[in-house]
Amino acid sequence: MYSTRMSNLPPYLFARIDEMKTEQAKKGVDIIDLGVGDPDLPTPPHIVAALCAAAQDPDNHHYPSYAGMPAYREAVASWYHKRFGVTLDASKETLALMGSKDGITHIGEAFVNPGDYVLAPSPGYPGYSTGTLFAEGKVHEMPLLRQNNFLPVLDNIPKNVARSAKLMFINYPNNPTSAVAPLSFYREVVDFATDNGIVVVSDNPYSEVAFDGYRAPSFLEAKGAMEVGVEMHSLSKTYNMTGWRIGMAVGNAEILAGLGRVKTNVDSGVFNAVQHAAIAALSGPQDCVREACTIYQERRDVLVSGLRELGFDVPAPKATFYVWMPVKDCMSFAATLLNTSGIVVTPGIGFGSSGEGYVRFAITRPVERIKEAIERMRRLDL
Ligand SMILES: *Cc1c(COP(=O)(O)O)cnc(C)c1O
Repeated sequence: MYSTRMSNLPPYLFARIDEMKTEQAKKGVDIIDLGVGDPDLPTPPHIVAALCAAAQDPDNHHYPSYAGMPAYREAVASWYHKRFGVTLDASKETLALMGSKDGITHIGEAFVNPGDYVLAPSPGYPGYSTGTLFAEGKVHEMPLLRQNNFLPVLDNIPKNVARSAKLMFINYPNNPTSAVAPLSFYREVVDFATDNGIVVVSDNPYSEVAFDGYRAPSFLEAKGAMEVGVEMHSLSKTYNMTGWRIGMAVGNAEILAGLGRVKTNVDSGVFNAVQHAAIAALSGPQDCVREACTIYQERRDVLVSGLRELGFDVPAPKATFYVWMPVKDCMSFAATLLNTSGIVVTPGIGFGSSGEGYVRFAITRPVERIKEAIERMRRLDL
């Protein structure tokens, strides 16, 4: 009944974890879910208020424009300028998205012919490979290894693959490894993409979730980046708005026009009231972002120091709300934690073959729950 394309979708490894979670919950186990990459904190009230007001206005009840309201696109351009010093022409170099996943999974349709290579990090966000699959391209995995600070080694990409690749996905601050990239890495990517005629897609939804004074750069800050690529960004993680489905693609006008043309044919834009709320988020006070980071940072400190006391060799992330921890066998480690202690973590293999040997903790739960998780692990004697 289903297409071959469907049968080529990667196996949903998280389904097994979900099943086990349900089993434990049925037994009455108090589950501590550190699996989900979704902020537990609410959307700041001034943003919710902007949505409510905009929803009352009948002018906002019609089909939105495909590319986004001019005022939203201006707010995106101003935010990029304020935050990264990147200058964008709002009318050509910005595009509204229904979350960055929308851009990530649809951009392949505009650039990839059947059989073309797409370079994607492993471990990585699953959208890079599913988007490629729907465009009938082939993923070439770029392993992210600890000895390389979880940055891909561009010299290791075979020349024939590099020359025939159409797209390259990069993602820093990174999910799931929580690694960050220096601007010098982005310069290398620009050179590589220029030499090989590759469109770069930088996925940057975690730029604002950072600790210890770290400021993540944008790919577009690198010289020449505007010539070869675009960046997908999102309000999901910055303003706790995962449910709202609003983000942006910014960068090279011609590349964005390709993505825009695909989207014109598959969706009808983002609800104008949501765009008004997003303007309030991007243009309003940013204390809420700093407050959220302070909360995540405390959770990170509790989790990392707890895990280190238990003997695990775990780096403290500078950004993202993930802790990426080496273990022997990720599936069995995750299953043991869940079945003996009710703690949910994500096995690294779920993010691609190079994720084996790691589990991901999401610090999207209150600090008391993280302390409780550490206590349960201590009793386990792992
Ligand atoms: C959360 C996430 C996204 C998608 O976020 P949206 O809610 O679609 O904006 C994209 N990439 C990575 C790496 C993510 O973790």
